Amino acid sequence: MDARRPWMDEELALLRDGARRFFERECVPNEMAWRAQHHAPRDIWTKAGAAGLLCASIPEAYGGGGGNFLHEAVIVEEQAYSMSQSFSNNVHSGIVAHYILAYGSEAQKKRWLPKLATGELVAAIAMTEPGAGTDLQRIKTHARLDGDWWRIDGSKTFITNGLHANLVVVAVKTGAEAGAKGISLLVVETDTAAGFRRGPLLDKLGQRNLDTCELFFDDVKVPATHLLGAEEGKGFVQLMQQLPRERMLIAVVAVAMMRRAIDETLDYVRQRNVFGQPLMAMQNTRFKMAECETQARAAQAFVDDCIAKLMKGELDVPTAAMAKWWTTDTLCRIVDECLQLHGGYGFMNEYPIARLYADVRVTKIFGGANEVMKEIIARDLEKR
Ligand SMILES: Cc1cc2nc3c(=O)[nH]c(=O)nc-3n(C[C@H](O)[C@H](O)[C@H](O)COP(=O)(O)OP(=O)(O)OC[C@H]3O[C@@H](n4cnc5c(N)ncnc54)[C@H](O)[C@@H]3O)c2cc1C
Repeated sequence: MDARRPWMDEELALLRDGARRFFERECVPNEMAWRAQHHAPRDIWTKAGAAGLLCASIPEAYGGGGGNFLHEAVIVEEQAYSMSQSFSNNVHSGIVAHYILAYGSEAQKKRWLPKLATGELVAAIAMTEPGAGTDLQRIKTHARLDGDWWRIDGSKTFITNGLHANLVVVAVKTGAEAGAKGISLLVVETDTAAGFRRGPLLDKLGQRNLDTCELFFDDVKVPATHLLGAEEGKGFVQLMQQLPRERMLIAVVAVAMMRRAIDETLDYVRQRNVFGQPLMAMQNTRFKMAECETQARAAQAFVDDCIAKLMKGELDVPTAAMAKWWTTDTLCRIVDECLQLHGGYGFMNEYPIARLYADVRVTKIFGGANEVMKEIIARDLEKR
């Protein structure tokens, strides 16, 4: 990854070096085996925790790294560039840990954050259901208060880190109110949750090294104190408030993957000979590479500008939506062009560009489908 970023400093450069070495040592040699079995081993989490790569932007008082979004960004960039996304640090550190930090009581923060930082707990966020994805307000999983306990019934699908997760933030209906108002976030410690069950690992087009499961809740009892936030019915607002930050993490990863695709392809077109000359000597190749690099640089500049705004607390929802849809859309186009330049080899899973091609497709769907991002931007335009 290019270290000449406006916000890089010596401390972040050291973190980047450490992260790169970790992923190259622990993940890269195992990528194909983990893709074959659709998951990484559980101890990758504790190894990442020991290396200081989990909860980098959680305060030290709760066991985290004491850093900020930049620390998180450096780590996920290296993870994405090295194609080591066999465990979703974005979900674990970037999303769930921040829900707990933002909405948790002091007791909840002390109970869960230190264990998330070591990897003793692995986090997942469970919102999506078979009948409710984009339209989250239609979720059916519900919880009713029974004395000192919530009792949860329902199921969730497409849950990242689903196999290893033992701390799951579950979006449930707790009230009879229609739509968003009845949604709450409950934290389930799955190791002790009778009635909790995981489905088999889902067979995905890409990201095959990352565990994704259905989760089932059959009258699962959760202490009343595991509600996130002071009162029920705030779950939808809590989810929405965190979205700009989460979407920036997706955009950061997207640019890192653009860089990997371009670097892979540059190497390939320099050494591949066609009609007696390197592929890179052909004008079409040169122009395609020039286009890809230009788009990646523009994406990087936009993302860095968004990051600067985020650090100042000035990143608004439509701008984060722009970063999410445009970087993921551009990523998919760049990877497609890069694969084309690999010819038939680009279709072989042995080649990183083939695996990237499959991996990147979902980025236009999750974290809010790109069509939804455009709706957000358009709604904001209407106000002008
Ligand atoms: C690999 C993977 C990992 C995931 N990880 C998680 C996870 O950890 N936790 C979790 O809760 N969920 C997770 N998801 C679920 C993901 O967030 C949903 O798939 C996503 O929200 C879309 O929901 P859906 O699949 O039900 O599609 P639908 O909501 O049915 O949407 C289908 C399509 O309709 C279009 N569309 C939808 N709404 C609009 C609109 N308003 N305007 C215009 N067009 C629209 C879009 O093209 C969209 O792609 C994951 C999904 C995948 C594939």
